[in-house]
Amino acid sequence: MIKIKISKTLEAKVRKGYPWVFKYQLQNEVKESSDGLAVLYDHKNRFLAIGLWDPDSDLCFRVLNLLEPVKIDFEFFLKRFQKALSLREELSGQGTTGYRVLNGENDGFPGLILDRYDKTWVLKVYTKSWFDHLDRIVEVIKTQKNVEHIVLRLARNTANSSSNFIDGKVLYGSTPITSVQFSENGLKFNVDVVKGQKTGFFLDQRENRLQIKHISSGLSVLNVFSYTGGFSIYAISGGCKKLLEIDSNRFALKSSLQNLQLNFPDRSNFEHQQLEGDAFEKLKELKLKNSQFDLVILDPPAFARNKKHRPQALEAYSRLAELGVQLVAPGGRLFAASCSAHVSAEEFFKAVNIGVASAQKLLAEVSWTGHAVDHPTVFAEFQYLKAIVGWVKQKK
Ligand code: SAH
Repeated sequence: MIKIKISKTLEAKVRKGYPWVFKYQLQNEVKESSDGLAVLYDHKNRFLAIGLWDPDSDLCFRVLNLLEPVKIDFEFFLKRFQKALSLREELSGQGTTGYRVLNGENDGFPGLILDRYDKTWVLKVYTKSWFDHLDRIVEVIKTQKNVEHIVLRLARNTANSSSNFIDGKVLYGSTPITSVQFSENGLKFNVDVVKGQKTGFFLDQRENRLQIKHISSGLSVLNVFSYTGGFSIYAISGGCKKLLEIDSNRFALKSSLQNLQLNFPDRSNFEHQQLEGDAFEKLKELKLKNSQFDLVILDPPAFARNKKHRPQALEAYSRLAELGVQLVAPGGRLFAASCSAHVSAEEFFKAVNIGVASAQKLLAEVSWTGHAVDHPTVFAEFQYLKAIVGWVKQKK
């Protein structure tokens, strides 16, 4: 197994639980290793951590176990998997069969996500060093009763590697995978686990969607960046009377319609429309038409893919909030979320408030939300999701 060394400063950080070493932080020359594992030694040449080694990535080492040398085998992964499942036990009683089972580093599986959609379990790997361990992970998942399929999804940086693993590969169960259905808070969703974004659905917004359900009764709702209709289905189940969805992705809009049909086959209680295209453009067009909504939902994709993009991302959040808030009817509300890890909650809320102020409005009785129980975050680096909801008032 290869051996790596780092500075004393970083060593102190790792001792406190920081899980990463980047290539530029290595203090010794490292020869390639094929087994996907490396050991980190401290400045006195004592064992500090064992972790995943990925020589092709800038983020080359991710801690699996700190201070204690352990065998990285089936038992090791099983223990952590069981602990992660027990943390999520409360969800099953809530009519929810779709949730995140493993949230990467925060559950002791660095660079690995596992989302469960009822009997279909979807693994997403963010480092190819997991490839050597996937057989064991599959066996670990199979210890559960309700496993019909295990599907592999690859993050961009792992997709081009010359291995047998391809995005969408079925690691366990029959192929091809047809439509997968799961429930969230008693509502039904179809999800494309092979081609959909992330692992197919944005499970992280579950609690925010529930909040939207609770405030939607009798309202007209605009759901911007609607994807497969997550927020829409909740709004309708909460009694919203009129719903408009905006998304640039035709397949996502189609899928949203299917989810609507699945939950509300009798569409007599609400009006529903969709607009396909760029959200910023569509919001401007709606403004020109003097359209108004009691609730505007803004849940865009991550605007900042890295730190460098932070200023542009903040501007985009402000611009979006400005465009969105202009469409809120008197006495209405604005909901805005951000999933950019490189934008802090404070920066995001400030950006939203700047946008709202540019439209001569302000937000009152604001509430904020963050991560749900199945998306634990042990380190600040992983706190990517933040949302804000408030009443829109005219600025005096
Ligand atoms: N709110 C959704 C998740 C949104 S994901 C949910 O709860 O499930 C982001 C969505 O934004 C994707 O569906 C993507 O197609 C869409 N999108 C990305 N850029 C866009 C743009 N410029 N205009 C409109 N939609 C966009």
